[in-house]
Amino acid sequence: MIPEKILPHKRSAWQPITIDGDGVLTASKFAGKPWLKKDEQWPQCPHCNNYLQFFLQLNLNNLPELLQPEFGTGILQMFYCTNCDYEGWKPFSDVHLIRIIQPKEGEEQDVEIPGNSFPPKLIVGWQELEDYPNYEEAAELGVELDDEFFEENFPISGDKLAGWPFWVQGIEYPNCPICNEKMRLVFQVDSEDNLPFMFGDVGCGHITQCKNHKNQVGFGWACG
Ligand SMILES: [Zn+2]
Ligand SMILES: [Zn+2]
Repeated sequence: MIPEKILPHKRSAWQPITIDGDGVLTASKFAGKPWLKKDEQWPQCPHCNNYLQFFLQLNLNNLPELLQPEFGTGILQMFYCTNCDYEGWKPFSDVHLIRIIQPKEGEEQDVEIPGNSFPPKLIVGWQELEDYPNYEEAAELGVELDDEFFEENFPISGDKLAGWPFWVQGIEYPNCPICNEKMRLVFQVDSEDNLPFMFGDVGCGHITQCKNHKNQVGFGWACG
């Protein structure tokens, strides 16, 4: 049972519905081929020089209607160094590249994926679910939760779009480097869900964005 006092804080979250295989360059997907500009080099890690692994991209123009234009337009991309993982948990670490690009037709590159990539998964739809904050965030909102059952089911774990972050440790929204405002969740990237990758010891990661500066996006993760 959902306690009545938390109902005002209900949010929608969307789980990606995926099929095996890659899609077009502008598609929302895990792994596969990212949209890269013609003359652009595949992003590399400044610490170990290895190519960053392409984790995912979201075509913000094709998100569920309720989210438009919440996260802006263009394509949100996430690359991450799976080789050295140097401070990869930090929201603005340079071993990952989180960015929003504005692709123009005819400027794309039929890119070759360097090295071993994860098996591609194409996002073909979104399953909308109800989501609620965890104990600590609820408390910050002035709602004391005492129902253990509730705690175990929310926030929803696994990969998801929007909703409430599943925090493994404390609440860790980064602040926008420009306006210092608390950034909000765009996409939760969990260990071993759509991507066969584990952040630390079954950590959970979050792509966040400033609502005032939509190009300010970060990625951080924590594990227990
Ligand atoms: Zn590296
Ligand atoms: Zn900002």
